[in-house]
Amino acid sequence: MLALRTTPPVFSAAEAERIARETYGLAAMVRPLPGERDCNFLLRTADGHGYVLKIFDFGASPETTDCQLRVLRHVAEQDPTLPVPRLIATQNGEETGRASGRSGSYSTCLMSFLAGTLLADSSPDAPLVRNVGESLARLDRALQGFFHPALGQRLAWDVRRLPELIEYLPYIESTAVRRAVERAALRMKERMPELRSLRSQAIHGDCHGQNLLVDAEARVISGILDFGDMIHAPRIFEPAVAMSELLTGDVTPLGALQGLLEGYAGRQGLDGAEVDVLYDVIGARHAVTILVHAWRGRHDADGARVLDSATQSAARSLAALEEAGAAPLTAAWRRAAGTSWSGETFAPAAGAVDLERRHRLMGAGAELFYEKPLNIVRGSGVWLYDGADRAYLDVYNNVPHVGHTHPWVVRAIQQQTAVLATHTRYLHSRILEYAERLTATFAPHLNACIFVNSGSEANDVAWRIAQFKTGHRGALVMRNAYHGITTAVAALTPSTGQPRDPHVVTIAPPPAGLEREDALAPAELDAAVRDADGALRTLAERGFEPAAFFIDTSMTSSGMFDAPPAWAAAVSARIRAAGGLIVADEVQYGLGRSGSHLWGFERRGLEPDIVTLGKPVANGYPMGVVVANRALIEAFQKEYGFFSTFGGNAVAAAAGLAVLDVLEREQLTANASSTGEYLRRRLERVAAGHACLGTVRGAGLLRGLEVRAVGPYSARQCTKRFINILASEARVLIGYEGPNADILKLRPPMPFLPAHADRLVEAIEAAAARVSRLT
Ligand code: PMP
Repeated sequence: MLALRTTPPVFSAAEAERIARETYGLAAMVRPLPGERDCNFLLRTADGHGYVLKIFDFGASPETTDCQLRVLRHVAEQDPTLPVPRLIATQNGEETGRASGRSGSYSTCLMSFLAGTLLADSSPDAPLVRNVGESLARLDRALQGFFHPALGQRLAWDVRRLPELIEYLPYIESTAVRRAVERAALRMKERMPELRSLRSQAIHGDCHGQNLLVDAEARVISGILDFGDMIHAPRIFEPAVAMSELLTGDVTPLGALQGLLEGYAGRQGLDGAEVDVLYDVIGARHAVTILVHAWRGRHDADGARVLDSATQSAARSLAALEEAGAAPLTAAWRRAAGTSWSGETFAPAAGAVDLERRHRLMGAGAELFYEKPLNIVRGSGVWLYDGADRAYLDVYNNVPHVGHTHPWVVRAIQQQTAVLATHTRYLHSRILEYAERLTATFAPHLNACIFVNSGSEANDVAWRIAQFKTGHRGALVMRNAYHGITTAVAALTPSTGQPRDPHVVTIAPPPAGLEREDALAPAELDAAVRDADGALRTLAERGFEPAAFFIDTSMTSSGMFDAPPAWAAAVSARIRAAGGLIVADEVQYGLGRSGSHLWGFERRGLEPDIVTLGKPVANGYPMGVVVANRALIEAFQKEYGFFSTFGGNAVAAAAGLAVLDVLEREQLTANASSTGEYLRRRLERVAAGHACLGTVRGAGLLRGLEVRAVGPYSARQCTKRFINILASEARVLIGYEGPNADILKLRPPMPFLPAHADRLVEAIEAAAARVSRLT
């Protein structure tokens, strides 16, 4: 990668003088100028004219050199008043010359010299900082139509490369700095999809205090130098790099940086999404500085010395950024940029929440998590943030399936709601696009959809369809199952109280401890069949025949069993033989959470007649779906008619489509498999060392960890301790599950990575040490 190589050309002043004379016909006094990779000289002729002779880095490709020359011509054409160097041809009328020296043969070019003091030495006041922003905006406007293949160069300074540079992390000596760099890299990685959705163009990409000149009297930018690091990138990187560099060069304090943004946005409007990535991009640039320096420290002592103070300053600045916090800075920057959805309009709810007020308005029975309830005001990726902008690792929420506020989904919702947000009684293609994409993921007979607004509604409709189709009224559900809140579905939900309705009978869970790959012993199979037959008999004794067997395919509330397909096949075969339909409730497991299959029923070995979807399908936008055979759905519609006001509205469809896009694009099912396995292995190791922990259950990114009693404390009490310690001390959010409420429920958004798993497991390990000491 460029910038991680160290072969700059070596030329003396005398050699430069000769090149000026022979190639450019100039008799000049020569002085070396600093340069990171190229070799630069200032030439002064007797008539007082100044020039810069540039001898290009040998390693730079001819394309990169060509790009630098062309951009100068382009900018001069688009905005002739912009202070960028002008190119001067060789005596033979060529754009570049050739120079041979001790270290090899190189391309050269000659440019006009721009007068001024380095910005780094100018102690900029507020108007000058603002003028920096204005000048960059003018430059970017001039660059808008510029293209060159070299803009795709792999440059270490490009903050998007930060995740690749992270391999040099061990080179950083200070643990605190290493951690801060790691955090910046993680944040950057999470930002990548968002960055790819921002307006992009050719940018200078390296406007630091040594590349900007100031007219000392007029106090404005009088020169923009060095176009050697140009890339095609989000436009916001231009002010972001400048802001980052002004910080690391100790040129401008953090509090004064917003002037730069104000100046930039005054000339070139910025939108909220661009300003929202600034914090992470600035931090990433600091991290890159530190890592490039760390690399050079190992491989090139001279280079390391050049960058040493910048590194220390970058580390200080990174710490200051973290200390100041993303939310307050972003709010200030949004104000400075005057973005349309500014902090004022859409400020996250902040400040303490008065519990009494909540009880008064929502009833004291409205459920809250944790002994110290959290005031969560925003989310991003796998993180939630409280009113004080403290970050919590979210290992609980599966609704934000592709990550909290995923920009692709947010954008889809915003754009659709700005155009049309109405129901399915008009022809509109969006919901059809969604239905096509969705049904394509099922077996051919599951080919039509009914759209509703929640998992409960989907199950309610499925239950009506099952009764309609079979003419039966009896239901079978798993022990301690959860299927929702409508009157009909609450009756199918023993986890909120044993079903008292005589038409509902429960099925025993499969034997614990089995893995999906295990063979089921004949005795275990027999027991499952006998249990199913027993349940059917109980129904019959009460005067009911089975309309349906409802099964949450992850069996979350029943205990997160990951039984072999033979178990579900045997049970469902008995129910089908008795005339019942199979309803696969995918509200928990759907969309790849198991890691092995897109749908949980595939992992379970079930062939459902009806599939119900909810929670994750629209990443937080309310949507539920019933998927079944078209003939069945049509017969039901004919009998009862069916319409849901919000069900399948255009915005829900846009959100659902965006979720499918992201799932595919970011290969989140594969991630659920690999991170899920990694998590399982780490959890098992920790559990082996603590008597208060038992087996690890589940698959992919739906995991359970059994908790055991300690001394006089029941497993249920210990479980509560775990989740409260994790939330309040480690800021890791998990839940609990199971008939005995003694299983830690780990169910994070799908972009959960091994680094997040590490943090979770370390938190569990620390909590286990505490729980083990309970007496
Ligand atoms: N089915 C299952 C398996 C669920 O876990 C839930 C919600 N926890 C539901 C149905 C009900 O979904 P909703 O809360 O969207 O009505």
